[in-house]
Amino acid sequence: MSTNIDTEVKSTKGTGAPRIIISMNGVITNDPCALCGARTNPNGIDLMLADEPALVCRDCGLAHARPLAMLLGLADAAYGFANAHEDAF
Ligand SMILES: [Zn+2]
Repeated sequence: MSTNIDTEVKSTKGTGAPRIIISMNGVITNDPCALCGARTNPNGIDLMLADEPALVCRDCGLAHARPLAMLLGLADAAYGFANAHEDAF
């Protein structure tokens, strides 16, 4: 799976397509998306531009780095599950 993600990131170099990463974000803000200007909904694990500390919204993530955006959805679900079942962990 990581091979697919690496391949996608490499294929966007030099094409003008944004390079997007998943990053732990220590500052929780709803800054505008660096690509479209829409408000983001950060929760600490966010999509960001690879080359600068700027948030990317889910819609732009789905458009430009679909596997990463989908992976982030799984992380959100796991985080919610862990919070709901805090006693089990
Ligand atoms: Zn956006």
